[in-house]
Amino acid sequence: MAVRRFVIIGLGNFGSGLVEMLHAQGHDVIAVDINEEKVDQMRPFATRAVVMDATDARALERIGAVAADAAVVSLGVDLAASVLAVLALQEVGVQEIYAKAISGDHATILERLGVMEVIRPERETAFRLARRLSLRLLNYMPIAAGYSIQEMPTPDAFIGKTLLELRLPQLYSVAIVAIHDVLRDEIHVVPSADYILKDSDTLTVVGGDEALGRLARLAGE
Ligand code: ADP
Repeated sequence: MAVRRFVIIGLGNFGSGLVEMLHAQGHDVIAVDINEEKVDQMRPFATRAVVMDATDARALERIGAVAADAAVVSLGVDLAASVLAVLALQEVGVQEIYAKAISGDHATILERLGVMEVIRPERETAFRLARRLSLRLLNYMPIAAGYSIQEMPTPDAFIGKTLLELRLPQLYSVAIVAIHDVLRDEIHVVPSADYILKDSDTLTVVGGDEALGRLARLAGE
């Protein structure tokens, strides 16, 4: 794996987790925070840990942000600092900027600034939990010893693919007998092979219990 250089700005829960993980994977990690204590805590886990105001483009230049493959901005509730830090990184010439948003408005602003990806961890975790919780409430019907019909959300990896491409009968020994688009409330019984799966689709799948379990786990991740 190639070593990449990352600048992580803001060492709260999110930023410090990133620093630890990327450093453990052997990357060159520059950790930045305005709070000296936070920086000291992360020193053992970073290639360099710097106390500085991340909205200062000159300071970013001095710590080597110019040569970074990517930067992540996670400045908690300080919306202005987060926007200014993104602008400063752009000024320095960092191409790949990821930024954490604390609200819908914050996300809109960051998107307009042209960051690579806006991350909303609490929301994303809530969606994943909701999927896992709803999975347990979906219909399940045993049809013979070891075989069942089960409803499940569409696994992320299946979204945008046709049923033909997924080759579920060949790969999992299961078949999709119906698709319920829960957003539009449309039902497609015995869907055709060229049906393209959407994230709002709930699948009704028939097959062996073990294969259904594997697929359901995929859907719940
Ligand atoms: P998160 O939930 O994003 O992890 P926190 O509020 O726990 O949020 O952490 C945000 C961090 O960002 C804090 O450690 C704070 O000191 C740091 N920070 C805030 N403003 C700046 C700034 N202008 N430059 C550098 N770091 C900053």
